[in-house]
Amino acid sequence: MGEQMECMCQQCGVSIYIPADLISLEDPASTEAKLLSSLHVCEQCGGQLALVGRAGDEPHYRLA
Ligand SMILES: [Zn+2]
Repeated sequence: MGEQMECMCQQCGVSIYIPADLISLEDPASTEAKLLSSLHVCEQCGGQLALVGRAGDEPHYRLA
């Protein structure tokens, strides 16, 4: 299992976890808004996603 990154929908705020090696940023040079490219959109509303951080930065409450 690779590292997972937490992303948040800009429209509805839902959190989505995406494997780090699948992430591609719309503008990698930007340090402010780390928006994901349109390869990944919200599963709920189709909105654009923003990178929040590594999933491992949160307490581990996920099921193994
Ligand atoms: Zn959404």
